Amino acid sequence: MSDRKLYINGEFCSSSTGDTFANINPATGATNGIVHEAKAGDVDRAVQAAKAALNGPWGTMPQAERLKLLAAAADGIRRRFDDFLAAEIQDTGKPVSWASKIDIPRGAANLQLFADLTRNIPNESYVSDTPDGGKALNYAVRQPLGVVGVICPWNLPLLLMTWKVGPALAAGNTVVVKPSEETPSTATLLAEVMDEIGMPAGVYNVVHGFGPNSAGQALVQHPDVAAITFTGASATGQRIMADASPTLKPLSFELGGKNPAIVFADADFDAAVAGTVRSAFSNCGQVCLCSERVYVERPIFDRFVAALKQGAEALKYGPPIDESTGIGPLISKQHRDKVVSYYELARAEGATIVTGGGVPSLGEEWDAGSWVEPTILTGLGDDARCVREEIFGPVCHVAPFDREDEVIRRANDTEYGLCAAVWTSDLQRGHRIAAAMDCGLVWLNSWFLRDLRTPFGGTGASGIGREGGIHSVNFYSELKNVCVKL
Ligand code: NAD
Repeated sequence: MSDRKLYINGEFCSSSTGDTFANINPATGATNGIVHEAKAGDVDRAVQAAKAALNGPWGTMPQAERLKLLAAAADGIRRRFDDFLAAEIQDTGKPVSWASKIDIPRGAANLQLFADLTRNIPNESYVSDTPDGGKALNYAVRQPLGVVGVICPWNLPLLLMTWKVGPALAAGNTVVVKPSEETPSTATLLAEVMDEIGMPAGVYNVVHGFGPNSAGQALVQHPDVAAITFTGASATGQRIMADASPTLKPLSFELGGKNPAIVFADADFDAAVAGTVRSAFSNCGQVCLCSERVYVERPIFDRFVAALKQGAEALKYGPPIDESTGIGPLISKQHRDKVVSYYELARAEGATIVTGGGVPSLGEEWDAGSWVEPTILTGLGDDARCVREEIFGPVCHVAPFDREDEVIRRANDTEYGLCAAVWTSDLQRGHRIAAAMDCGLVWLNSWFLRDLRTPFGGTGASGIGREGGIHSVNFYSELKNVCVKL
């Protein structure tokens, strides 16, 4: 049984109130172990430790040494790859084929990227004329923000946490991480790595717990937390923004999506089908970038729906550690109830269920897990709730379209704006549509290809700000201009 403690000031500890909660394996419903729940007092201790490290060993450490430690943390994840993989699979039930290629390698790569990138950030400087006919030199200095609160979701736990911790530490901040209550383990393992590599106490702290009236809210409201970086649901973002307002702190928000995929009749048909099977059903549809709305040009609509059905039905349920398993469970029974309620709503709204629409019977221990069938819907109008609201499960609605201007309008008709996937062999049209999409990322003839230096983020209800490369560093540092009369 695992015992996920808090990590405060370089020490693993229980909560001051002694509160714990269960960590459940969503593939089997079995209890993995217990998690210690931080309350406001524990969060305060973590913030004070982070502040002390900032004013002490971390703040005075040469930047080259800090980046060496960050690179050592990346190495630590690689060295303990199997531990991280097992922990992530136990917490999420995700198939090993996905976690071993995406979650854990990206965890290490995220830290490595910022250890490398921040060695070479140029400084801005200008020599300007002054009113008295002289000159002045202006130069901008980058400073850390201070203690950064890092609040993470459960769908890509290590990947999304390191995506924030990497640049925050590289920019000279210290962090207090609040992992999702569903997935506490890899943040705790990273604490073990930090211990092993000799990271100074207080630089990286972990406070487990929930959101409202628990560790999450306490972190957001803490006056000594200089900034909050948050990935999660849009409604949670609204709440965090309200709770953060009295202490006026910068917020970086990566939120929900209801992303379109647009398939033209001239697309490479097989590539578009395979790409849409991935973009709709990867990680059991629990990726913010998943396509939940698919628009297909009418001449190929029936053939496309039939091929997508075949692709969805070929995804194999099975033990997460089995390499041939193609789809895992949802994160929890509660989330499954939500997704299944959308399947019921789709029926009530008049959808045709092309495939799926229920809960599979897998037998033995697996039936106690949170499994759900990959589901394809057709026949709904653009105003149906299933076409407008983020479901965050293995489900997409497929609709026909006739004209380019029509599909652009329908794809953009959403409060969200995270990403879009466009499938066409007409490159000019591809670029034209990319320009017209009201969102933060567009993939042409692909999905989920990521260069970590590129800007990542959404518009509207999908987020505020950009992460990735220098864009992350810009959020996690403050620029101060110094003007010198020459
Ligand atoms: P969530 O918003 O329920 O929880 C995310 C985190 O916020 C958890 O750690 C939770 O404990 C914490 N939290 C909840 N309420 C809080 C509060 N009032 N104050 C402080 N912290 C609080 O999201 P989730 O269910 O874990 O994740 C799924 C959502 O995340 C989906 O909407 C998905 O689209 C989104 N997501 C977005 C991106 C992106 O990059 N845009 C990436 C992954 C997931």
